[in-house]
Amino acid sequence: MTSYFRPSVDAMVGYVPGEQPKPGTNIIKLNTNENPYPPSPDAIAVLRNLDSEWLRRYPDSYANDFRKAVSEVLEIPVDWIIVSNGSDDLLNIVMRACAELGRKVVYPMPTYVLYRTLAQMQPAEYVEIPYPDDYHLPIEELVAANGAVTFVASPNSPSGHAVPVDHLRQLAARLSGVLVVDEAYVDFADETALPLVKEFENVIVIRTLSKGYSLAGLRLGFGIANPQLLSGLFKVKDSYNIDAIACLVGAAAIRDQAYKNECVQKVKASRAKLAVDLKQLGFKLWDSQTNFLLAQPPKGNAEEIYLALKERGILVRYFKHPGLEDKLRITVGTDEQNQILIEMLINLS
Ligand SMILES: *Cc1c(COP(=O)(O)O)cnc(C)c1O
Repeated sequence: MTSYFRPSVDAMVGYVPGEQPKPGTNIIKLNTNENPYPPSPDAIAVLRNLDSEWLRRYPDSYANDFRKAVSEVLEIPVDWIIVSNGSDDLLNIVMRACAELGRKVVYPMPTYVLYRTLAQMQPAEYVEIPYPDDYHLPIEELVAANGAVTFVASPNSPSGHAVPVDHLRQLAARLSGVLVVDEAYVDFADETALPLVKEFENVIVIRTLSKGYSLAGLRLGFGIANPQLLSGLFKVKDSYNIDAIACLVGAAAIRDQAYKNECVQKVKASRAKLAVDLKQLGFKLWDSQTNFLLAQPPKGNAEEIYLALKERGILVRYFKHPGLEDKLRITVGTDEQNQILIEMLINLS
């Protein structure tokens, strides 16, 4: 059949999301880094009491109710905040505003695969700089690649490591383009790059409610940067990218810091326990500041283990990408879920 698409669309593969079984399916889902605990009771109450008038009308294009909540919680002025339909939407908005052929996209690898997909869609040239084995940020190489936009996920997926803020600071100071710090996992980390948005006009920090706040299904993300940098992003976003429900529910969720912190503490404790148990089984692990562990099975037979677990009702993530074929990315579940995983791994070995 004739292609009706742009050549760049024909050439691209398309992002392959992790498997999403129907809710209620009897599966232990440790493949896409959702939080195992329910969202804040305050957020659920807002959802239950929602006035249908909110659905009849168009939503606020800037999601100001949510922006105000972020502003209070993070002590940042409202006009330094942009809201998006999940942080994926904001990554795409930055790409649309900054990149095209002749304006390169740069990022260290391995990282979030969507950066490449978005660059291919644009299209824009993309330069992938390999991380060294110790995941030290390759600052010289990133600077030399001269991106119109440089993406660094910190903490990173699938490695789980966090880039020291001081290294991001050195990078920001030397880049001529925009530096995007993707902080999807920041709630599980020791440090944030947020101070950099005040220090540098070219830095945007991106966050999401999908992981720390247990709201992956709501689709809500946001970015923090100076209003000048945000002005270009506002021009290219969909006019109503945040629905009215997400705006109100998200505002309640982010105001409930106590609940979020409680869930995060539980996940971090489970992460430590799971790491000990996996090490005991001979897995090689990398230090994680996220809600998942990158784990290399002792025999390197990651794909085999992934398939065997899947057959037995446990989903973990397997990437058939260079450097990752012998590893699994395992989301930290509840202690009970993690225990079932460990028992299954013992049975398989
Ligand atoms: C999960 C994830 C996101 C996307 O989050 P959404 O807000 O659900 O779109 C962005 N970046 C990284 C590195 C992630 O792992």
